[in-house]
Amino acid sequence: MTPDRRKAPPPVFDEGEAFKFLEAQCSFGPRNPGSYGHGRCLDYLLEQLTASADTVFKQVFTHIEYATSTDVEYTNLIARFQQKKKRRLIFCAHWDTRPFADEDPDSSNWDRPILGANDGASGVAVLLEIAKILGDSKPRYGIDIVLFDGEDGGRKGHTEEYLLGSKYFVQNMPVPEPEFVILLDMIGDRDLQIYKEVFSNRYAPEVVDLIWEKAAELRLPGFFRLTKHMMIDDHIPFLERGIPAVDIIDMDYPHWHTLEDTPDKCSPQSLKVVGELLLALLYD
Ligand SMILES: [Zn+2]
Repeated sequence: MTPDRRKAPPPVFDEGEAFKFLEAQCSFGPRNPGSYGHGRCLDYLLEQLTASADTVFKQVFTHIEYATSTDVEYTNLIARFQQKKKRRLIFCAHWDTRPFADEDPDSSNWDRPILGANDGASGVAVLLEIAKILGDSKPRYGIDIVLFDGEDGGRKGHTEEYLLGSKYFVQNMPVPEPEFVILLDMIGDRDLQIYKEVFSNRYAPEVVDLIWEKAAELRLPGFFRLTKHMMIDDHIPFLERGIPAVDIIDMDYPHWHTLEDTPDKCSPQSLKVVGELLLALLYD
C-alpha cells in the first residue's frame, strides 16, 4: 500500500448549470433598477446565494437616476465563504442591466431597456455556479462574491453616472480588504475574445499576469495576450483605493447595449472557459 500523493484535480465547472443561471435571469426580463424584473431577479439571486454561502447580506442605497430624475433604490449582494480565512479574494459582476438600448441600430429602440444576457447575466451566472462549488469544497482563499447594482445606468459620455454599486461598496467596505479582485463582465459571448484591459494591466499587472499565465497553462480558448480595451467598469473604484483589480471582459461583442443582447448570442462553453479559470486559481 502506498499513499496516493497525486493532487486532486480542481472541482468541475458545470457549464450547463451555469447557462441555466443566465437564462433564469433573462426570464425576468430587463433588470434595470426600479423595473419589475429587477425586483424579481433580486429575490432569485438572494435565494441562490443563500443556498451555498456562509452568510449573504444586502447593501441597499438610493440615488437619483439620471435618466428619470427619480430616487431609485439599488442593492448590492454580498455572499461570504470561509469568513475566518485571512487570505481573501473578491469575485464580482454587475447584476443590473442597461435601462436603454442606446447602441441599437434602430434609433426607435434607444429608450427601451436591454435584456442583458451577456451584459449582466453572464458574469453573474458564472459566479452563481462558482458559489455552489465553494459551498461544497474548500479553496485556498476565503472568497467574497459581490454582485453590484447600478453599473450600467449612465448616459453615454457621462462616466460619473456609472458604477454606482461598486463605488458605494468601496466607500462603505463591508468585508475585509482582499488581496485582489476579479471582475467578470460580458464573458458569455459565443465568440469569446478576452484581451488584457488597459487599466487592469497598468495598475494590477501581477494579477493580470497570474490570470493570463493560468489561461495559457490550461490552453483556454478566447484569452489573448494583447492589451486592447480601456474600460470604465466596476474594477475602477477598487484600483482608485489601491486594491489590485482585474476586469475580465470581452468588449468585442456586436450586440453590446442593443435589444439583441439575448441568450442565443451566448454559449455555455464561454461560461465554462471563465469558470474553469477561476477554479484553477482557487484549487490548482
Ligand atoms: Zn453595459
